[in-house]
Amino acid sequence: MSSEQPTVIIRRERESAVIHHHPWVFSGAVAGVRGDPPPGGIVRVQSSRSEFLAWGYWNGRSQIQVRLLSWDENEIIDADFWRRRLERAIAARAEDNLIYQHGTPQAYRLVNAESDYVPGLVVDRYGDWLVIQALTLGIEVRKRELVALLAELLNPAGIYDRSDADVRQREGLPPATGLLWGREPPDLIEIDEHGRRFLVDVRRGHKTGFYLDQRPNRFLLGNLLRNDPDSPKKTILNLFAYTGGFTVYALEALAGRVITVDSSGEVLALAKRNVALNGFPVNDADFVEADVFQQLRLYRDSAQQFDLIILDPPKFAAVQSMIDRAARGYKDINLLAFKLLKPGGLLMTFSCSGGVSLDLFKKIVFGALTDSGREAQILQTLGAGSDHPVALTFPEGEYLKGLLLRVL
Ligand code: SAH
Repeated sequence: MSSEQPTVIIRRERESAVIHHHPWVFSGAVAGVRGDPPPGGIVRVQSSRSEFLAWGYWNGRSQIQVRLLSWDENEIIDADFWRRRLERAIAARAEDNLIYQHGTPQAYRLVNAESDYVPGLVVDRYGDWLVIQALTLGIEVRKRELVALLAELLNPAGIYDRSDADVRQREGLPPATGLLWGREPPDLIEIDEHGRRFLVDVRRGHKTGFYLDQRPNRFLLGNLLRNDPDSPKKTILNLFAYTGGFTVYALEALAGRVITVDSSGEVLALAKRNVALNGFPVNDADFVEADVFQQLRLYRDSAQQFDLIILDPPKFAAVQSMIDRAARGYKDINLLAFKLLKPGGLLMTFSCSGGVSLDLFKKIVFGALTDSGREAQILQTLGAGSDHPVALTFPEGEYLKGLLLRVL
């Protein structure tokens, strides 16, 4: 390695995280920078005693100045490195029986950024198309190269860019969307998820178009609701429903009435199309365009009761400083949900805020339970599917957490 290799020196007291393979080096951990690394360029990360620690890519404009790529001094970060990392992530999905145990979904995550040791890159598959998110400068400067590799490895119909997530601002990057390779996707891509069909708007939908992370929990819901056809019909409330993912699985279980609530008329219109696509009648009264915080109060004031409630709110805490506010939001909706459940009713409650740990989420839900005067049992702890693996060294990757509760 030439001596001109730009080098980042880590403060002695901050070495431990790097040594333990946490992929982020914050500006406060950097004691100095030698050489002049270009934006996104490869840097050698060293201890204060000049010992090699890791290779990473540089962004002086981000609070996370280096994203670490390899802890092997002999590993060369070239085109072949990126190919090996992508191949490994893709092969892991192909061999993962947890993804395929309930039929072959046509939509799942192929590359999960830091947790797949490709920091900053998300690749999702929707049928024949790939949708990518370049979340960091280091990925943005290599986007064309990575897209060419993905095209070669997966031979998709097209690769579409949805690099418009807010986190890009913190990397000094503007949003970028559009076709990167191959053919334009149709306005709506139809996918098959364990035999259920969904229309996905990869251009304008949330994230890359669909909440792929909830796939196993949607499947679980379908199983929870499957019962004796002669048993009494249930009333299911799907709150923060987006395009009706949980709704379709609930209807398919023929359990009873499903009420779908979201504040966006646009996503509800697509939810209705998804319900129709799966062969169910669309009853407009069962699709409610409303703010969940208000709608729950309406149900409470009119003493309505439900057999099962799904609470899948958006990220309430995007940054650490918002955690107190987020906690109040989670507590409010969970408290109201507890009050609306029949004895024996089920609550599937989620948080996708990275800063809210499972432990904290449990405490918030516990507080809501206490205030509601009810009793509840945890039946299962929930998370994202195995196509969203979490590197053990990267707890921040475990953003989606949920609880399946039975209210007594
Ligand atoms: N459960 C869904 C994903 C939910 S994403 C799935 O499996 O696909 C969160 C949804 O909450 C978004 O569709 C957003 O439009 C909606 N939303 C955000 N704030 C809301 C509010 N205050 N009231 C109702 N819906 C809201």
